[in-house]
Amino acid sequence: MKLSAVGRQLLRKDLSMDVIWAPWRMEYILSDKEKTGCIFCPGDDRADDKERLILYAGTMSTVMMNKFPYNNGHLLVAPVRHTPDLEGLSPEENLDLILMLKKTLGILKKVMKPEGFNVGMNLGRVAGAGVEEHMHFHIVPRWSGDTNFMTVTGDVRVIPEHIRETFGNLKKYFEE
Ligand SMILES: [Zn+2]
Repeated sequence: MKLSAVGRQLLRKDLSMDVIWAPWRMEYILSDKEKTGCIFCPGDDRADDKERLILYAGTMSTVMMNKFPYNNGHLLVAPVRHTPDLEGLSPEENLDLILMLKKTLGILKKVMKPEGFNVGMNLGRVAGAGVEEHMHFHIVPRWSGDTNFMTVTGDVRVIPEHIRETFGNLKKYFEE
């Protein structure tokens, strides 16, 4: 197939959109079947928070970094309650979750100065949820020209150093 310059450009644009927005395609990696327990349930033991990249664990909401991020600063905000959707939460828990989203966006704005965000949720396996039993929001900070990020880090199975660094930069703001 021979494509015009414009056609090639459109195709490229299309592909890069696909890479950045394919609904959190990497998420299945998060559901490491060999590990027991739910990664979104923070539990009562805070000793492993750094290892698990948990930035915050409150009474109703928790925030962690995605180990396989779409972009630098890709965070996951979840209710503490192990439930597949918003209907499983009390009004107080719903409110706490939305306030936690707001706080998280504020911290990311301050620390990472993104130009925009993608905020989204995959409900159900068919929608791309890797861990469908425990609902969670994805927050992906965006900068213009950031679409090549995944090709660099997407397949890396160890946690890249920059994630640990970002964790350290963000953690103190969640402790405030
Ligand atoms: Zn859970």
